[in-house]
This record gives sequence, structure tokens and C-alpha cells, in this order.
Amino acid sequence: MLKRVLIANRGEIALRVLRACREMDIETVAVYSEADAEALHVQLATQSVCIGPARAADSYLNQDALLTVAKATGCDGLHPGYGFLSENADFADACAREGITFVGPSGDTIRKAGSKSAARELMKAAGVPVTPGSDGPVDTVEAALAAAERVGYPVLLKASAGGGGRGIRRCDGPEALPAAYAEAKAEAKACFGDDEMYLEKLVLRPRHIEFQVLADRFGNVIHLGDRDCSVQRRNQKLMEEAPARCLTPELRTAMGQAAVRAARAVGYENAGTVEFLLDADGEHFYFMEMNTRIQVEHGVTELITGVDLVRQQLRIASGLSLDMTQVDVHLEGHALECRINAEDPAKNFQPCPGQVSFLHFPGGAGVRVDSCLYNGCTLSPYYDSMAAKLLVHAPTRLEAIRKMRRCLEEFALEGFPTNAELSYQILYHPTFVRGGCTTAFLDENLPQLLDFNRRLSESEGEA
Ligand code: ADP
Ligand code: ADP
Ligand code: MG
Repeated sequence: MLKRVLIANRGEIALRVLRACREMDIETVAVYSEADAEALHVQLATQSVCIGPARAADSYLNQDALLTVAKATGCDGLHPGYGFLSENADFADACAREGITFVGPSGDTIRKAGSKSAARELMKAAGVPVTPGSDGPVDTVEAALAAAERVGYPVLLKASAGGGGRGIRRCDGPEALPAAYAEAKAEAKACFGDDEMYLEKLVLRPRHIEFQVLADRFGNVIHLGDRDCSVQRRNQKLMEEAPARCLTPELRTAMGQAAVRAARAVGYENAGTVEFLLDADGEHFYFMEMNTRIQVEHGVTELITGVDLVRQQLRIASGLSLDMTQVDVHLEGHALECRINAEDPAKNFQPCPGQVSFLHFPGGAGVRVDSCLYNGCTLSPYYDSMAAKLLVHAPTRLEAIRKMRRCLEEFALEGFPTNAELSYQILYHPTFVRGGCTTAFLDENLPQLLDFNRRLSESEGEA
């Protein structure tokens, strides 16, 4: 088993990894930027080392600094969390060269899955359905126009290196394509330092359904069921649940098998996620991408399977074989997650971090809160604006919805605006309650959901 793990991340996921390590008697080394000196994971780790200034490029993305600290502090493993270097193939290789176990797949696997356009080709060859699209990258506007003509509008222009909903633009016809192409390319360059583009046919009103997979180095691959992440704003997830309500047992089996084939196609090892789009007809599904890391929303899967995914990651990285097979995986009850972000939904979800002046988290049976916030701490403007993840688990979906409403009523965070009230309204929206949300739901209903918010705060002002 790994003995000492460097946690190459920050925020709630650093804390999540730290908790798993402590429960497994693995020592932890936290690294932090100058902006994070007071962070919770820094205080709780066995040892903590400052690795540079606030800017991520100077700290959490500084590969040399991370490897130097890992070696100097005697770490035998490194957990990358999500974001930052978690899907950086060169970094995974560098860890391996230095004799430090990267808690994730090999650099080769990350490379295969990491180019979203190349991954599509691998998946097609493995018999996993993909959306119609450009076969490979589109390097010029002319190539994009030709590919779009072939697959038919509307199309989605996507960055091969994309993530977090960035580098994606919808395009409804040839007139709009040159501008959309330039915009998406520029955003990809700025966000990922790589502006390779490809395109896919836009699936109208789809659901985002993803499967959690686990694979060990002995060729055992299983899936831990699905998550529905269709409640999104601007292609970014806001609320997730498991299991997806719209899947029949047959479709769940078929998609689960496709997810396992996808993982095998890239020689997967460790925990990963295969993302699919499910057509409006609820029958056809298409591979979208594979995320080669722990996912933000992994907790909903943990709640319905009883499997600790970070623990599994650490076991697999230590060279152990899976301690369960597909038939051991049972999905029990229903889990929901709300991401609480420091952002203003009424101002186009603009991030607005600040100091927490008052904080109270909900509790009680079936409630889990993953957050590194505490009273008086500051949510830094340098990083992701996610402040907390509220999770609930209940026997049925409706009970889970009721529990989450109750949690949001208890939850209090003062100091900056959040999306908590918006999420609360979503939990009362008939489409959500019915289980009918597609990825178009939030954008289409936002004015109505926000208007309710506005009227509520006005009436509170009058009272
Ligand atoms: P998930 O699919 O786990 O829900 P998201 O797409 O919301 O993940 O991204 C999780 C975190 O990782 C976010 O902080 C996001 O900004 C970041 N992220 C995702 N992909 C990339 C990438 N390719 N490069 C940098 N950061 C990324
Ligand atoms: P990222 O790496 O940024 O997570 P994804 O490829 O996973 O990018 O896509 C992000 C979101 O964009 C999806 O969850 C979905 O809502 C939407 N999307 C992506 N591809 C398509 C498509 N072909 N048709 C319709 N929506 C899509
Ligand atoms: Mg995605």
C-alpha cells in the first residue's frame, strides 16, 4: 500500500483525498499556494509545503515544484484530484520517471483519451457509438465548413483538449460558422494552450448520462452505474443525480457495457468516467468523452453503491486488484448533488468570490457536505468558484428531492452571492420533479426561475 501521498490539488477535493488517506493510514503531504496558506487541507495534512504564488501556473500547475516536494518529503504516491494536472499525460509520465506513483491511469492512456477528437476514432473502432462529426480535427474554417456540410447543421464546434464546458460553440448555419470557429479556437487557446478543434452534430435536447468505471492493472474493468448530469448552465454541470431516472434496465446494461468497452479501448487503469449523450428519444446514446480522473460528482455514485471511490483509486494505484466484480455492484436508493458556487445567476453566473462572514451546513440522516469552507475563510478569486457540494441519499428520488430542499433551507452562507436559491427553485420545478430535464432545461427556464427569486427577495425587502 502507498505510505505517503502528495495531494497535488486544493479545495474540497484535496480535503476529500486527505480524508480517504487518513482512514487508510496513509500519510499526506499538502501543497499550497500563497493564497491558500489558511486552507483546511493544509491544516489537516501530515505535512504541508508552500509551492509558490497564487497564480495556478506558478503553484498548482508547477510540475517541477510538485515533484521536488514529493521527493523531498518522501512521498511514494501523488494524487492529482480533478482539474489542474489531473489529465496531463506528461505529468503522469514525469511522476513515473521519478518513481512516484501517479494515482490515475498511465500517461499513454491519458494521451489516448485526452484528445477528444482522437478518442472518438478509438471508440468507433471499439464499437462504442459516437455522434456524427468530423473524422479527426478541423484545422481551418474551410475544413470545418466542409465537415459541417457533411454532418448537417446545427453542429457543435469543440476543442479537442476541452474541459469544464470551455472551447465549445454551437453553430446553426454556414454564415455563423467562421465567427463561432474563431471564438471557440481562441477560448481553447486561452484555457488549454491547445486550440485544435473538431466538430460534432448537435444532439437536440439530450441528456448527459455518464458511467463511473473502475479498472485495475490486471485487466479487470467494472462500472458502478450511471449519473445524470443534465442540469447544466453553459455546458457546465450544476446538479447531478444517480441513478439516472430515464434509463431502462436494458439501456443501463447496454450503456454500462459500452463504458467498459471504452475503458478497455484506452487500456484504462484506476477510476474514470465515460460520458454519453442520450438522445431525446431516450434510446440512442453516443460517446462524448472520457474523463481520466476522479470526477466532481463522484459522491452520488458513492452514496448509491457504498463504494469509496478515492479509496479504490488508492488501492488500485498501490497495485491491488479490484475487490469486487460487476455482480457485486448494487445501486441502492437515489442520490442528488447540488454544487454551490460563488456566482451570481442573475449576472450570467459571473463568479463573485469573497470572505465567508457566516456559514452553516445542513446535517442529519442521509446528508453529506463536501467543502473546505469554514467561518471567516476566504474563497480565493484565483481558482474555481465552487464553494461546497451538498449531497443527499434517500430510498426514492422524490424523498431525495425533499431532503435536498430541506438541506437548502438549513444551509446558510453569507459573504458573497451563490446559486443556492436558484438550485432550490429548480427542486420545485415540475420538469425537474418529473425527471424530465435535458441539458437545455436550465438555459430555457432560467428567466422564470430567476424571476421567482427576484419576486421573493423583493417581498422579503417589503416585509
Ligand atoms: P466533472 O466532469 O468532474 O464534473 P468539470 O468538467 O466540471 O468536471 O471540471 C472539473 C474541474 O476541472 C473544474 O474545476 C474544471 O474547471 C476543471 N477542468 C476540467 N477539465 C479541465 C481541463 N482540461 N483543463 C483544466 N481544467 C479542467
Ligand atoms: P467538457 O470536456 O467541457 O466537459 P463535453 O464534451 O463533455 O465537454 O461536453 C460538455 C457538455 O456540452 C455536455 O455535457 C453536453 O451538455 C454538451 N454537448 C457536448 N457535445 C454535444 C453534442 N454533440 N450535442 C449536444 N450537446 C453536446
Ligand atoms: Mg464533459
